[in-house]
Amino acid sequence: MESLSFEEPREYLELARRLLNSVNDGAFTVTESTCSLQDLFNPEWPGEEVEHNFQCTSCGRTYQLFADTYHGRAGWGLTGPPRPVPELPPEPKSEVGIWMTAPSSSAQ
Ligand SMILES: [Zn+2]
Repeated sequence: MESLSFEEPREYLELARRLLNSVNDGAFTVTESTCSLQDLFNPEWPGEEVEHNFQCTSCGRTYQLFADTYHGRAGWGLTGPPRPVPELPPEPKSEVGIWMTAPSSSAQ
C-alpha cells in the first residue's frame, strides 16, 4: 500500500483508525501533524486541510495521510525511503582468534 486516494470520507476515517491503532501499538510514530489523530473522530472536523505524517518505527519509511475538504480530496502516500541499514560495529578480531586457538593448544 504505497499510495491511495479515497472515494469517501468513510474510507479515510477507516485508515485513520487503523493508523491510530498502529501508533498506539508502537508500529508508527506521528512526526508532524495539523491536529491529533484522535481529533479526526470528534464530531467537529478539525480543519479544511488536515495532514498527518508518520514514520514506520521498524524500517524508517515515512508516509502522509491528508484530507483537503475544501477541494474534496484525501489520500495516503509514501513520502520517504526506508532508513539505510546501520553499519555493524567492527568485530574484535584478535579476541576471536585467541578464543578459537585456545582449545587446540591445551590439547597438545
Ligand atoms: Zn516499515
